[in-house]
Amino acid sequence: MSRPEKIRCDACPVMCYIAEGRAGACDRYANENGRIIRVDPLTILDRRIAKGDAVKPFLKADWDGTTASGDEVVVSAIGAGTTYPDYKPAPFIVSREIEGVDCVTVVTEAIFSYCGVKVKIDTDRHLGHETAAVRANGEIIGHVTTAEYGSQMLSLGGVDHLTGGSKAEGRATCNALMALCNKEAVDLTIDEGAALTIAAGAPPIVDGTREERMRVGCGSATIGMFASQWKGHVDEVVVVDDHITGVVSEHQAGKVIDWPDTGIRIKGHRSTPGRYFKVAEPGLGWGGTDIDDPLSILGDWRPAKGARSGLTLLMVSTTGEHAAFYQLDADLIPQPKPMPPALQATVDLIAENCEPARATVLFMGGAGGSLRSGVTKNPIHLTRSVQGERTHVTLGGAPAYVWPGGGITVMVDVAGLPDGAFGYVPTPALVAPLEFTMPRDEYLALGGHGEAIRTLEDILERGGDYGDASQILGTDE
Ligand code: SF4
Repeated sequence: MSRPEKIRCDACPVMCYIAEGRAGACDRYANENGRIIRVDPLTILDRRIAKGDAVKPFLKADWDGTTASGDEVVVSAIGAGTTYPDYKPAPFIVSREIEGVDCVTVVTEAIFSYCGVKVKIDTDRHLGHETAAVRANGEIIGHVTTAEYGSQMLSLGGVDHLTGGSKAEGRATCNALMALCNKEAVDLTIDEGAALTIAAGAPPIVDGTREERMRVGCGSATIGMFASQWKGHVDEVVVVDDHITGVVSEHQAGKVIDWPDTGIRIKGHRSTPGRYFKVAEPGLGWGGTDIDDPLSILGDWRPAKGARSGLTLLMVSTTGEHAAFYQLDADLIPQPKPMPPALQATVDLIAENCEPARATVLFMGGAGGSLRSGVTKNPIHLTRSVQGERTHVTLGGAPAYVWPGGGITVMVDVAGLPDGAFGYVPTPALVAPLEFTMPRDEYLALGGHGEAIRTLEDILERGGDYGDASQILGTDE
């Protein structure tokens, strides 16, 4: 019996030879009856179906042609395939009517060698020092980058990790990026820092503990927000924060409501009145510091400045997760006391004002390469049209932010894409659905493949180079 002939997939530079009934190296293409097909169906997004509804097999017989012209039904690039190396028109170039304007959407699954993700982790816990290496499966795939307000940030991926290191590094980077973009949980470790489990849209897990709250603000902002609610209930309040620790009696917010001096002394760098930097080292303790005992940030109390026996003190973190109440004894040493109900209510208010902690994943990549030839015979015209905001860019139907300056550098919140929208090729590189939408006049003017424009009905009827399977997906994007 002769062995079945393998056929070549030419959708990426790997050029797999695929046997009958088998899939290629990326699992996205297969040999079905001697023909290369895209394994996942072309995905039509229908805004009239609520997001989260089950994916429905599309019944062509049910298709109402009048609905094809609205803005509610969108051909996404998910499952569309790739026309690598883009010497021919993109897999689907679809005519659409949007708000009465005759438009064209060009869809392709773009191969991104230049791409990565920015991860925002809502926590004030110290995850690792800025520039510390972030690892997946032991390989360095990115680094800790500039922290934001209430969030720690990671920058992962990029061409240097995908292609510039060892094969293992490239593979680990590609796997982690794809999983993060597909909203799956990924385990990461930070050198000399925390172990994380991150999934887009889910609470981050830091060293095995699920993060619940994003801080209400820095220590100074917390003083500003709640100073008037503490007045009359306590003599001093310290909001412990790794970045800016606040002291109500010294803070401007306390001064404007005539808060008396207390003679408190804080160890740390005094920035402006009532605002202290570096009261401790960063860590997983109170307010993102490494302390478990908040009294360790206090120096000796000064009687000449108002310290006295019986003076009361609230110490609280920026999430309300940690709080303690003290009273100075005869030697001006703070002694722990039960939290008065009126103060417990203010601690609860801080917690109530915290938002739920989430991890957010933004995919970022450069779409300025050869794929533009699948859109137009003169690629710079597409770049200029995108930069001039005459062409709208979406990824899997989700609107992308296009960076100013040269190229088509896009950024998108992966939460807005359907699950499983990203793939990979073993070069290694990520594959992301990409759609360019513009008025038909603009498309023709920029040198578009006018002869390849098809109606949605025709696409559903005849399919494309990689088969005719399609599905409908509800979306609220
Ligand atoms: S890796 Fe995937 S896209 Fe690339 S040639 Fe093989 S089957 Fe085709």
